[in-house]
Amino acid sequence: MIESGGELGGQRLAPGQSFNFACRPGLACFNTCCRDKRLPLLPYDFLRLRRALELPAAQVLAQRVELEADPVSGWPALRIRLTDQGVCPFVTNEGCSVYPHRPTCCRVYPLARAVRPGGKGRKPQEIFLRQETPGCLGWEEPDELDVAAWVEQQGLAPYQKVNNYCLRLFMHPARQGKVSLNQQQTHAFISALYNLDAFQPLAASPGFGEKFGFDQDRLDLALADEEELLKLGVDWLAGVLLGK
Ligand code: SF4
Ligand code: SF4
Repeated sequence: MIESGGELGGQRLAPGQSFNFACRPGLACFNTCCRDKRLPLLPYDFLRLRRALELPAAQVLAQRVELEADPVSGWPALRIRLTDQGVCPFVTNEGCSVYPHRPTCCRVYPLARAVRPGGKGRKPQEIFLRQETPGCLGWEEPDELDVAAWVEQQGLAPYQKVNNYCLRLFMHPARQGKVSLNQQQTHAFISALYNLDAFQPLAASPGFGEKFGFDQDRLDLALADEEELLKLGVDWLAGVLLGK
């Protein structure tokens, strides 16, 4: 998703440009978009989903997630495992059962977001595009808003923040073309970005900071806060897979 900018279609929305849209129960299309979709799980999406499910990371990975290689970047890419009927396992008649913790793709939809690193000291560049999927009746609703209002309404800001941090790895300047990770590297990737239950003891182990160049304050922060641990995982992986 992060790197799908080159493949995305749809009309680009300029900052401040208004559009008419609303998604709510009562629309005839309600819940129909929670099926037959690829539902990517970025590292922060997984962290939030795991919080919603209150289950160990390894269990969520085993039961709810599929792993593939991103066709563009080659990075391991996780997505929600749909039911045999092609439906998201979290949808109910009343709507999304993990709504407060739903992933980035569900918050952004029916827009699409593409982002690129902004360079040294600059914010990442992001664009939003309209995805006018057939059958989505929300586009016929009168509510007028712009991208900033949509971001606010959908609670996207914390997701954008950590997703943007992950660009340090996913779009690392030392990466040459498509990534091809071996089994051990894939295991490290999953542990550091998704299975934080497994990464935490590694980060807490004697000599970890010295070996990988993290000072004690950074480690203390990471060991006290899961989001900081995830960011440590991003920087650790960038070092071990691509060099600092
Ligand atoms: S996570 Fe929730 S919003 Fe997203 S597809 Fe599943 S049920 Fe729908
Ligand atoms: S309005 Fe669009 S996004 Fe909302 S439930 Fe209907 S199809 Fe899904």
